[in-house]
Amino acid sequence: MYLFRLIYASEQSSLLSRSDIEQILAVSQTNNQKADVTGLLCFNNPYFLQCLEGSRASVNATFNRIQKDSRHANLVIISYHQIAERSFEQWSMGYVGMAKFQREALLKYSVNQQFDPFSMSDESSLAFLFAMAKGLMHS
Ligand code: FAD
Repeated sequence: MYLFRLIYASEQSSLLSRSDIEQILAVSQTNNQKADVTGLLCFNNPYFLQCLEGSRASVNATFNRIQKDSRHANLVIISYHQIAERSFEQWSMGYVGMAKFQREALLKYSVNQQFDPFSMSDESSLAFLFAMAKGLMHS
């Protein structure tokens, strides 16, 4: 079975608190670990950018649950590709919140300093996720 990577963007449906995000992360990490799914979730009010890596079946099943979740809406798949290797294997679901967003990375991969994953290309969104992961590893 091949490895796949899915990247999507979404928008919170209503204002999510720190504990809402912690709850999402706790469930995600438990489920993803069981399914050998790895990835990274970035959130900067109101947008999410998430990457899921794993077998096609596991990534699809995880995304199918995620897209039914009423805590976010307007989900758009940015990319879905077969990959040769994982890039986020350290995390069953790593998290980068708004406090950790680097202004330089936003400017490097976006048209301005606002985090808007809906206006990022597939290449830019992946490069942005790599930059966020690098920051997470060194924090
Ligand atoms: P159940 O726990 O049985 O819940 C039933 C339904 O209620 C589901 O549709 C569920 O999404 C929804 N729900 C559960 N809790 C709440 C709540 N507090 N408020 C509103 N609706 C709720 N899950 C993963 O396994 N892996 C991930 O990587 C992952 N990433 C996520 C990223 C984001 C941005 C969000 C919003 C959610 C993410 N989730 C992830 C959670 C996922 O959407 C499901 O809630 C979770 O997988 C449990 O699914 P379930 O079918 O067992 O739902």
